[in-house]
Amino acid sequence: MPSKVDFIPLSESSLRPRRDTDELSAKRRGYNRAYMRAWRADPRHQLRERANRERAYYERKLREALRDAASLDRILRPAVCGLCGKLPPVAEIVRLRVCDRVRGGYVAVRVPYCGQC
Ligand SMILES: [Zn+2]
Repeated sequence: MPSKVDFIPLSESSLRPRRDTDELSAKRRGYNRAYMRAWRADPRHQLRERANRERAYYERKLREALRDAASLDRILRPAVCGLCGKLPPVAEIVRLRVCDRVRGGYVAVRVPYCGQC
């Protein structure tokens, strides 16, 4: 029984490298390069780029400083009881916390405890 699907052999034109698109993309790259070179040569754009770079630099510095301050705060903050939040802890207790991602639905959590509340 003959197949119902016709197999069409690849023509030579589809196997040949596409010179026209290569030339087109090379032309486009050349145009883009010339455009960006002209764009960067404009003093207004240079000022804008510099301001953008400085803004990004200071934003990054601020972000890092805030991150460091937050971690330092976590380290230096005096430890308090996990239940009352007032007294210093003298021990750790284990409590179960609801968690949908584990089998059984609960996960054990160690909590600092003052021993009085
Ligand atoms: Zn307490």
